[in-house]
Amino acid sequence: MKKIGLIGGMSWESSLEYYRLLNQFTKEKLGEPHSAELIMYSVDFARFERMQHKGQWEEMADEMIEIARKLKGAGAEILLICTNTMHKLAPAIEEAVELELLHIADATGDAILSQGLSTVGLLGTNFTMTEDFYKNRLEENYSINVLIPETREREIVHDTIYKELISGIIKDESLIKFQEIIRNLKEEGAEGVILGCTEIPLLVKEKDSSLPIFNTMEIHAKKAIEQALGS
Ligand code: GLU
Repeated sequence: MKKIGLIGGMSWESSLEYYRLLNQFTKEKLGEPHSAELIMYSVDFARFERMQHKGQWEEMADEMIEIARKLKGAGAEILLICTNTMHKLAPAIEEAVELELLHIADATGDAILSQGLSTVGLLGTNFTMTEDFYKNRLEENYSINVLIPETREREIVHDTIYKELISGIIKDESLIKFQEIIRNLKEEGAEGVILGCTEIPLLVKEKDSSLPIFNTMEIHAKKAIEQALGS
C-alpha cells in the first residue's frame, strides 16, 4: 500500500471525515483489521482563511510547498490536498515537489462521467465557484458543462461555509437555503450537483438534494485508496 500524505486542517471538521473515509475504504477493500497508511499535516486554518481573503496566494503556495516536502520526507507517495479551494495552488505544488498529486477535480470529473452526466451545478467557496482553476479543469479535460448559482446565492453558500460549516455548525435553515439553490440549478439544466467544498457534505446529504450529489471529499478519498492499493 502506498503511503498517502494529506494537507489537512482546512477545515479540521472535514479532515476528520477524510481520515474516517480513508480508513473505511481501506477496510472495505482489504477487510478487517486493515487501515490506511497515511500522514497528515494539519494547519491552523485561521491563518489560511485570513490569507485567502486577503489574496495572499503566493505566501500560501510557499507554505503548502513546504508542507508537501515535509510529507514527502516523512514517506508520503501520494499527496491529497483536503480542500477544493486550495487546489488553486495545486499546479504550483506539483511543479515544486516531485510527488503524485491526486487532484480533487479530476477524481470528481471521472465520477461525473461514469454517471453519464454532462451538465452539473457547482457549490463551493466563491474562489472555487467563480475562478478558473476548478471549473475550467472540468470543462476542458472532461467536457463537463459547469453551472454556478447567481451572485446572491453564491454569497449564501460562501458565507455558510466560512461562518458555520468550518466551525462544525450545522443549521436547518442553511440546509433549506442550499436545497433551494440546488433546485434552481436543476431548473437551469443541471443533472447533478458537485458539493465542491469538503464541508458541504456535512450539511447536505443525498436524501436532501433534488439532484444526484457528487461528494468531492468521498470521491477524492475513494480514488486515493484505489490509487494507493494500485486497483
Ligand atoms: N474545505 C473547503 C473547500 O473544500 C473550504 C475551506 C477552504 O477554503 O479551504 O474548499
